[in-house]
Amino acid sequence: MRSYCGWCTIFVFLCAFAPLRENSAAEERPPNVVVIFADDLGYGDLSCFGHPTIKTPSLDRMACEGMRLTQFYSAAEVCTPSRAALLTGRLPPRNGQCGSRRVYFPDSKGGLQADEITIPELLKTKGYATACIGKWHLGHLPQFLPGKHGFDYFYGTPYVNDMDRVPTSPKGKAAYVAPKSEYWNLPLMRQTEIIERPANQNLFTRRYSEEAVRFIREHKDQPFFLYLAHNMPHVPLFRSDEFAGKSRRGLYGDVVEELDKSVGTVLDALRETNLADRTLVIFTSDNGPWLMYNEQGGSAGLLREGKGSTWEGGMREPTIAWWPGKVPAGSVSQELASTLDFLPTFCALAGVEAPKDRQLDGYDITSVLSGGASQRKEMFYYRSYDLMAVRVGPWKAHFLTQAGYGQPKADPHDPPLLFNLDVDPGENYNVAEKNPAVLKEIKALVEKHRAEMKAAPSQVDL
Ligand code: MG
Repeated sequence: MRSYCGWCTIFVFLCAFAPLRENSAAEERPPNVVVIFADDLGYGDLSCFGHPTIKTPSLDRMACEGMRLTQFYSAAEVCTPSRAALLTGRLPPRNGQCGSRRVYFPDSKGGLQADEITIPELLKTKGYATACIGKWHLGHLPQFLPGKHGFDYFYGTPYVNDMDRVPTSPKGKAAYVAPKSEYWNLPLMRQTEIIERPANQNLFTRRYSEEAVRFIREHKDQPFFLYLAHNMPHVPLFRSDEFAGKSRRGLYGDVVEELDKSVGTVLDALRETNLADRTLVIFTSDNGPWLMYNEQGGSAGLLREGKGSTWEGGMREPTIAWWPGKVPAGSVSQELASTLDFLPTFCALAGVEAPKDRQLDGYDITSVLSGGASQRKEMFYYRSYDLMAVRVGPWKAHFLTQAGYGQPKADPHDPPLLFNLDVDPGENYNVAEKNPAVLKEIKALVEKHRAEMKAAPSQVDL
């Protein structure tokens, strides 16, 4: 017979893990999960992350009612590997979702492999309805589309909104300064069918919002996972007439402000369906701002560089978590976390066992979302198959550095460049010489990591 103390121990244990797990024994229905994923949004592009002229009242409210995460990372510096890592919880080299081409193109033959296990596939084992609304970019051929990876519903574009450029469109960057949808012969899909081509890009954000709200309302009586991956603010920039010319930040500001309204619309739908207190919503971005497009690109704020690079501006993202009654209102977490952590975290919330037959690179961060410490103490920064940099605690060592775009070869560093990101988030002051013990520790971690990294052949380069 179990002793009294034994039962006490179990009770204390359960209480300790209770905050985000309301659906333990007493309640059968696990929480809904909504990921709102912007494309190429910079760390400094939201009002609540310090932008002086872009107005983001809905995201600001979301932050007031939830948590801002100031040390949150996408898993990669460009679209395809970032998205693959989010959905699989694995660093891109492990499943070949990276390569010299960096992302999938309309002539690509590869995609996310059938034997990868994704978040929606896992959540479906607990009865979740699943939808991918927006940009996919993990292979556009039929065998790679969202429906093959656990999504019941797909509405959006198979790849990026600057692909399928029409040869008669204005040359070079001119097409981006005053973009028109007809400059790109981009398909818009519902499930496996192309329903519009060229897609009217001005309507992307509005249509995705409408689709998201419809999905929420239709599935309000069962748990759901909504992956709302906006095409915006990836260049070419588009917004509906309602937002044209509204922002002091210009076209880019108009686009972000429409995205902001979309976030408000989704949160309102959750409130109106009485699902707010049973839904975790996380807003973040796939990579940093595309700086080579100047005013058409966003801002990484105080961080260095942007999209395509493994400097902080390429991968640290403005992130907000919201779950009224669960995520502490008005809180700020400075803990390390990443989109790599979504899979184990959502599995934990849903009561699903994360895959054990493969190496995962994420941690369960439910403790972070309730205001506690993170299990994540390190971050590996890959560009294609190259391990460019490693963060351990506040310290980040760069073994290779390369501008996001326009620098063909990386600069090697031996000893590595070393920055203390707590003191110097802008990575301005190399302190390698003063901290040999830190470098030694990071090098040991890198050796261990390399030894256990089994990289798969590139799908992106097929
Ligand atoms: Mg992107």
